[in-house]
Amino acid sequence: MSELITSSAAQLAAKLAAREVTAVEVTQAHLDRINEVDGAINAFLHVNTDEALQVAADVDKARAAGEDLHELAGVPIAIKDLIVTKGQPTTAGSKMLEGWMSPYDATVISKIRAARMPMLGKTNLDEFAMGSSTEHSAYGPTHNPWDLDRIPGGSGGGSAAAVAAFEAPLALGTDTGGSIRQPAAVTGSVGVKPTYGGVSRYGAIAMASSLDQIGPVSRTVLDAALLQEVIGGHDPRDSTSLTDPVGSLADAARNGNVAGMRIGIVKELQGEGYEAGVQARFNESVEMLRDAGAEIVEVSCPNFKYALGAYYLIMPSEASSNLAKYDGVRYGMRELPAEPPLTIERVMSATRAAGFGDEVKRRIILGTYALSAGYYDAYYGSAQKVRTLIQRDFDAAFAQADVLISPTSPNTAFKLGEKLDDPLAMYLNDIATIPANMAGIPGISIPGGLSDGLPVGIQFLAPAREDIRLYRAGAALEGMLEQKWGGPLLASAPVLGGVK
Ligand code: GLN
Repeated sequence: MSELITSSAAQLAAKLAAREVTAVEVTQAHLDRINEVDGAINAFLHVNTDEALQVAADVDKARAAGEDLHELAGVPIAIKDLIVTKGQPTTAGSKMLEGWMSPYDATVISKIRAARMPMLGKTNLDEFAMGSSTEHSAYGPTHNPWDLDRIPGGSGGGSAAAVAAFEAPLALGTDTGGSIRQPAAVTGSVGVKPTYGGVSRYGAIAMASSLDQIGPVSRTVLDAALLQEVIGGHDPRDSTSLTDPVGSLADAARNGNVAGMRIGIVKELQGEGYEAGVQARFNESVEMLRDAGAEIVEVSCPNFKYALGAYYLIMPSEASSNLAKYDGVRYGMRELPAEPPLTIERVMSATRAAGFGDEVKRRIILGTYALSAGYYDAYYGSAQKVRTLIQRDFDAAFAQADVLISPTSPNTAFKLGEKLDDPLAMYLNDIATIPANMAGIPGISIPGGLSDGLPVGIQFLAPAREDIRLYRAGAALEGMLEQKWGGPLLASAPVLGGVK
């Protein structure tokens, strides 16, 4: 396999700066790879060939002219198809938006354009980011490069699979309850959910606005840091955007170190319900961190047992409101009722019945029920109180520890179809990732080894605005694990015949 597609983003950036390769060569190598393998993976819903090559050619020209370029200029990236892009379709994985073209760019896309990173295309996802397997996409599931019969996680399975299958060195995801971290975990890649407000949500199609966050997917901790530095920062177009800078993430990733760091094991995020192989890899990582000088403490977050229940009230409530705009009138799909009369209510109803899939309908029904006048206090109100209790649990935990550690997901990639008819089993995939969204704090998932030949993710969590700690701890663990494995985990993956 070409070194151009197995290199990390940081390595590509160095080769480009040294003029060992051109941006066109790098971009073409990834487009070739997509052509070669995406029939089997289905990570991409749209491939942006012409524009990507044009951006790359412009970068090469600018470099030849001696222009000052961003470090990642010419390094290609894939975009989750929940983020709007001018000039490329945006579907949100739904029939509702089939063929829809956004008239504007999301803020993160404007920043990627400003850095002159060629966009390879838009990646597959569960419809409107609802799911943990990418099987709820209206455009067919994405397959896990480690085993094509298995799920790549969700909702951002397309972005994670693209990165793990060497179709893209970098990708953007969105994480409302784990949709960046869980797909990263089950595909052996790195995924980061930044602090809420650290990256602008302007132009991310809203699922649950108080939980949603855009973040990086990559193969190394340093690459994720470099990408977060591109997309992060204050945006006046997002009223929840933070004004304070989060510091140099890439420096932290280049200087991974846990000596003297207090790392808290969350009692409630391990043990029962976690696969034996997942628990074993987790325990080994903890021991490695201890050997590297970290002080390991145990913390308890007793209210985490209510997190999943509260999430499945708050998230559907917000989603039911956010999805009300798909009415067959303003934009997107329009389905006319089979029989007259042609009233606006009947057009809305026919459109929403035909345009939304089962999981989206399930959540709209849940959300409108939880918000209805008679039940608001009992459901939505109680869930908001639980959210406060979870935040207090984190406050107490972070008084004892600088970062927390847990498995990212209780299980490795399951078989396609295995949990499709069992929504509750599907929801349990996010048991360890949801608390971070409820509290607005940042989290990272890094590869922690294999269980029965399938990747296991290790999650670090940090207090709000302390993303830098995730990169310092994540890079330290990554370095030790790679030393043990003799290289990155994905280098040993049986990705469609093997990366040797
Ligand atoms: N899997 C979770 C859900 O279905 C999380 C989704 C997400 O983070 N977008 O809600």
